[in-house]
Amino acid sequence: MKSALGVPARGAEIPATMRAVVFTGPNAFALREVPTPQAGAREALVRVHASMVCATDAKILAGKFPATRFPHVPGHEFAGDVVTSMDERFPAGMRVGVEVHVGCGTCERCREGMYTLCLNYGKRETGHAHVGFTIDGGLADYAAIPIAALHRLPEHVTFDQGAWTDNLGVALWALERGRLAAGEHVVVIGPGAIGLCAAQLARALGAGRVTLVGRGKRLARVRDMADEVVDAADVARLRGTADVVVEFAGTAEAARDAIALARRGGRVVLGGATGDGVDLLGVSLSAIVRGNLDILGSLANPKGVSGRALELLAQGKIDVTTLVTHHFPLKRFEDAWRTFTERRDGAIRVMLHPQAGT
Ligand SMILES: [Zn+2]
Ligand SMILES: [Zn+2]
Repeated sequence: MKSALGVPARGAEIPATMRAVVFTGPNAFALREVPTPQAGAREALVRVHASMVCATDAKILAGKFPATRFPHVPGHEFAGDVVTSMDERFPAGMRVGVEVHVGCGTCERCREGMYTLCLNYGKRETGHAHVGFTIDGGLADYAAIPIAALHRLPEHVTFDQGAWTDNLGVALWALERGRLAAGEHVVVIGPGAIGLCAAQLARALGAGRVTLVGRGKRLARVRDMADEVVDAADVARLRGTADVVVEFAGTAEAARDAIALARRGGRVVLGGATGDGVDLLGVSLSAIVRGNLDILGSLANPKGVSGRALELLAQGKIDVTTLVTHHFPLKRFEDAWRTFTERRDGAIRVMLHPQAGT
């Protein structure tokens, strides 16, 4: 039976309080009982079913995001079902994944669809939100999320897969920045979660050959996600071979490698998370100019790209299940956090399940 707008789905009693991971201050967190958020205008209350921890959460916890105010509920990679909503396009009961950037909708960048570059970043009163960064996120039983951040999950996409909505969009956007054409040789540097999504998406988009460059034991585990796996120490043999290079390692060394691996006339997409104070030294300007290279920065997932990535996920063209190495109920958040941040047992991604028992 369909529920009326703004009325919870049948059987979905909304408790007055809920459990949430709370970053209480720099380098301090706790699982707490807090008031259940209420969805405002243009928001939906989402019951969270699957929610991942990300390396960016560690940066937020360390106080490296000035726009994040403590106490803060983190979580920006999650999926769940709508419990209340005033928007008939996202009624109670709909299963949704979340992308994290919500623009003000009216600034020049938002009008171009580049809401990831919104000129009103952090100004909640303009409508801007960065889910899990400037507003509370999904490492909790419930989250109040702007409708603009929601994507309906296709029928065959599970909550666990749907938690990848944002990451898949980030990876797909980088490939689109690189204007990948069918049959081309793509090199992906950085076998982290997003790099591994990019490698698989490159295949799904028709790349001729996909080479994954990285370090460590993790490479063996994800060998099937590319045609070829190369240790970063042996990267010199790939010099000048790639039509498109996508970098998701986030270091200056990886960016230098990325530029060196592109063929003349090729495209280099730098998408790894970086920060102020990281400079790109030791790159030959001649290699760029005389190589006629396109060197492109790629930030996040604008223009609804996450929605298109979900369609590829629904077609079974991307395996994200293998990338989740550990699962925990929400009450074991501390174990989950340590497992992820200390890379215990070869952890790639760690997923919390707020609705899974106690
Ligand atoms: Zn993340
Ligand atoms: Zn804007």
